[in-house]
Amino acid sequence: MGESTRRRQRSLLAGLLVAVVVAAGCMGGGLDQGEPQQPGPEQTGAPASPGAPTTRAEGTTSVAEFKQDFSDAVGSAASYWTAQFRASGKRFQPVRRVVPYTRDGEVSCGGQPLPRNNAVYCSAGDFIAYDVNWSVGAFRQIGDAFLFYLLGHEYAHGVQVRLGIRYNFTIQQELQADCMAGAYLGDSVRSDALTLQEGDLEEFREGLLAVGDDPDQPWFAEGSHGTAEQRTDSFFRGYEKSLGACGLS
Ligand SMILES: [Zn+2]
Repeated sequence: MGESTRRRQRSLLAGLLVAVVVAAGCMGGGLDQGEPQQPGPEQTGAPASPGAPTTRAEGTTSVAEFKQDFSDAVGSAASYWTAQFRASGKRFQPVRRVVPYTRDGEVSCGGQPLPRNNAVYCSAGDFIAYDVNWSVGAFRQIGDAFLFYLLGHEYAHGVQVRLGIRYNFTIQQELQADCMAGAYLGDSVRSDALTLQEGDLEEFREGLLAVGDDPDQPWFAEGSHGTAEQRTDSFFRGYEKSLGACGLS
């Protein structure tokens, strides 16, 4: 994605399925849990635009492809924030490391072992850690859009730390991170760094509806991320209006 020409040949949000629980986990609050379901049938919508050589073909969501998309998603988030900081005369220090893991407790954050089926930003070490198997599963189920959202959200937590933003409730921190992820993606589309295919936005919206907290969860609970409606509102507020809508100042 990002500057890559290759990325333009593919649909960012193709194949986004609704029935998934996104676990954009976060240290400092609770950790999200989420188990991607078995890969569903690939959607056949979002045809390539005329002249675009390919969209992702069915059954080609290989691990190699995952790695490339993951790397693109990290790089594109880092590029976006570097440019944003530079525009305000500041130097942006990219998140220090991105750490894959496969086992419970293989990676710890501030002494707290990280569980499987999750991805987190750890402020204690300034790194993003992610369960590889879980991430690959979600990638296969949802598509590459998942990785760009996931990394956009976790990277936003790294930016919050750099800006010294610390809310009293995790839900505030989380909804702002969703807004920032939306701003990053929306701005990147507007600047032509990323390209969406027709219908992708609606698919993304449908996907976000499925990622909210359980309706019974109190908003003030440790680890709350927001209801589906709140998360969707935050994400698209950022997507449509850019960072000014995310309360960063
Ligand atoms: Zn988060």
